[in-house]
Amino acid sequence: MDDAWQFPGYAALLVLAVMLTGGIAMAAWPRRSAPGGTAFVLMMIATAVWSLFRILEAIAVQPGDKIYWARFEFLGVVAIPTLWLLFTRQYSRRERVSPGLGPIWLWIVPAAVLALVFSNAQHGWFWTEIKPVSAEPGANLVFAHGPAFWVSASYNYLLVLIGTVTLLLALLRGKDVDRRQATGLLAGAFVIWIANMIHLAGLFPIAGLDPTPFAFVLTGATYIYTMYRYRLFDPVPVSRHTLLDNMIEGVLVLDNERRIADLNTAALGYLGLSGHSSNGAYAKELLANWPQLLHYCNSDAEAQGEVYVLDRHFDVRAMPLYENGHRRVGLLLVLHDISTYRMAQNQLREANERLRAHVLEIEALQVKLREQAIRDSLTGLFNRRFLEETLQREFARAARSARPLGIVMIDIDHFKELNDAHGHRAGDAALLAVGRLLAAQTRGGDVACRYGGEEFVLALPGANLETAHERAEHLRRAVESLRVLQDDAVLSMTISAGIAAYPVHGERVDQVLDNADRALYQAKNSGRNQCVVRAVGTPPASKADVG
Ligand code: GH3
Ligand code: MG
Ligand code: MG
Repeated sequence: MDDAWQFPGYAALLVLAVMLTGGIAMAAWPRRSAPGGTAFVLMMIATAVWSLFRILEAIAVQPGDKIYWARFEFLGVVAIPTLWLLFTRQYSRRERVSPGLGPIWLWIVPAAVLALVFSNAQHGWFWTEIKPVSAEPGANLVFAHGPAFWVSASYNYLLVLIGTVTLLLALLRGKDVDRRQATGLLAGAFVIWIANMIHLAGLFPIAGLDPTPFAFVLTGATYIYTMYRYRLFDPVPVSRHTLLDNMIEGVLVLDNERRIADLNTAALGYLGLSGHSSNGAYAKELLANWPQLLHYCNSDAEAQGEVYVLDRHFDVRAMPLYENGHRRVGLLLVLHDISTYRMAQNQLREANERLRAHVLEIEALQVKLREQAIRDSLTGLFNRRFLEETLQREFARAARSARPLGIVMIDIDHFKELNDAHGHRAGDAALLAVGRLLAAQTRGGDVACRYGGEEFVLALPGANLETAHERAEHLRRAVESLRVLQDDAVLSMTISAGIAAYPVHGERVDQVLDNADRALYQAKNSGRNQCVVRAVGTPPASKADVG
């Protein structure tokens, strides 16, 4: 039993390395959903596995036992470069990087190497010779490397190099990664690089001892510091990035040269852009199609307004960004889609306009209807109903102001004959002509009305019998000289008129109208084409009496 196990001093350092890397894996485990988180946790586990089996190799005494455990170290060794590559690319958010453990082909080489290691006894391609450094029991083994080892080592170095360059570029761009985090991660990686190169170059002073697992103590310490001091994988910065990409608002960040420093998924969608072409592009080139939006990109102060881009309305806000509260580092643009709101607003406005148009139309129709109710459709003069209503008011007013009101009742002479001779249409034309004449001769306050058929009434507020007679006579002469052209025929007419007045012929409308009618009857009987003033003080007589 005594010579089965030993405990060399450096094994303690390896125990520390296992504890550190294992501890980091456990600390990072809850944050594994962060970009690169899973790969990082597994990388730390792989490192711990390497160190763990190195411990077993160290404490075993028999060379055969040492070789037995040394093979298991490769479970960790082969996985580390692949995991490092995955971690760095996911962490620096390279596009087209599959999450988690990446595509299966990435794991073909590690698996093949592992197979070669475990089958080395059969072919010796990986290790050509393994022998202890000294004859002392439990002495370290020296592994002479075969071609498979060198191929595997080159492959590993290539992956580690790509990963390191990825991280370095991300650090230089400083876009998606925290510079201090990336610096910490790189520093840790360089420690490994240097240790491993020293080992492969055979420069490490202690024969048979690979310093790489020991370097993990330093690297682990660096990573723990980075994790806690610079919040590596902390949910806060991670969720900020995720938050930005899950926002409905489009967010654009411009640097002081007005280049696109960052833009979220929503902004890409709203502007119809791809992330590839957009990052680092000048706003004036990228957004040349939308001068309105460009205007806000060029803003030097806080600005807010509305822009129309790709069939959408946006509320846009520009805000200068300051570092440490004073140094201007760029401009933040936030686009809020207000299309639905605008659309609803526009619909409402249109509905309002339609409604207003309707109301106007209805009002116009009402005016027309009111007009139609009081006007005669052929001549456009007032109708009898309107006259009678108006006369009631006019009589009351005349009574108040103690003024007279003359009534002229007119009837076209032998109109039936005109109708018979020239047709009803000609009769209508003649009626229209007389109506026009009447309308032309009325003044403010006068009411000209088509009383019925070919009869007209002229109400003249303020006119006494004499004045009314003059007006009637004037009209009679005008009709007499009127000629109406209708279908090659020249029509001429005469009228008879009866004149009465308030108050001399009565206080009531019907009394005065009746007196005018009687005077008209007189005019007809006296040979027509004349105006007759109703005698004053004549007792109401029947039409037959007068005839
Ligand atoms: P007078 O008044 O001189 O006694 O003879 P008159 O021929 O005018 O007789 P009366 O008043 O009885 O006849 C009126 C005629 O007017 C009867 C009708 O044919 C005609 N008339 C009434 N309204 C209209 C109308 O709207 N259009 C046309 N064309 N004729 C009408
Ligand atoms: Mg007549
Ligand atoms: Mg008549």
